[in-house]
Amino acid sequence: MSRRVLFVFMVIGALAGLGYYLYRSFRPSIGRTSNLMEWFRNPSAHPDWAMRAGVRCGEGPFIFPTDGFIGYLWDDSFKIGHRHQGIDIFGGTDVGVTPVVAAYPGYLTRLPDWKSSVILRVPDDPLQPGRQIWLYYTHMADPAGNSFISPDFPPGTYEKYVEAGTLLAYQGDYSGDPNNPVGVHLHFSIVLDDGQGNFRNELEIRNTLDPSPYLGLPVNARQSDDGVVVCEK
Ligand SMILES: [Zn+2]
Repeated sequence: MSRRVLFVFMVIGALAGLGYYLYRSFRPSIGRTSNLMEWFRNPSAHPDWAMRAGVRCGEGPFIFPTDGFIGYLWDDSFKIGHRHQGIDIFGGTDVGVTPVVAAYPGYLTRLPDWKSSVILRVPDDPLQPGRQIWLYYTHMADPAGNSFISPDFPPGTYEKYVEAGTLLAYQGDYSGDPNNPVGVHLHFSIVLDDGQGNFRNELEIRNTLDPSPYLGLPVNARQSDDGVVVCEK
């Protein structure tokens, strides 16, 4: 075989490999995006797609933290190299309307510069007793950063105890860029402790846990197809 033919085969092989990688990475996200577009167009046409705040599914120790359609899952990929560290729940309403509640009892902190986020410390992971974990909630402000967090939790709140089901805030679309708000949703993630009593950086997926066993729902993108995720009946 000439070198030229060998080179052509190598290029074809590399392209096929890249194509397979992209297909594996994005196929479910693309399917979920089309479902999400349909949800945005007409949420009332798909009541069976929506989860409800306060519902417990299967063996999961957490209650569901808000109302809406689970549009994106843990470990979804929106661009090459990106892995989504939580789940995105889209209320299908305007901003400031859909309530967000505590999924589990814990100690709430809202750092002084947090407009759209709170984090709850859970001292004893119900699925791995002895380990401390954190529950992070964000996007709970309007595009300009006007907060929808309950006045019970002003900026600079530290370690305020809340029961499961306590109203924390309402869904918003804050992204940090007033000209590019996200769709109205809650981003919810489970963040690991650094071993010193602080939460790790939520932006890295390796610092987060697959929420599936906590919610009793298949919300791991690698293990779910592109269908709608709701409680099993
Ligand atoms: Zn998200």
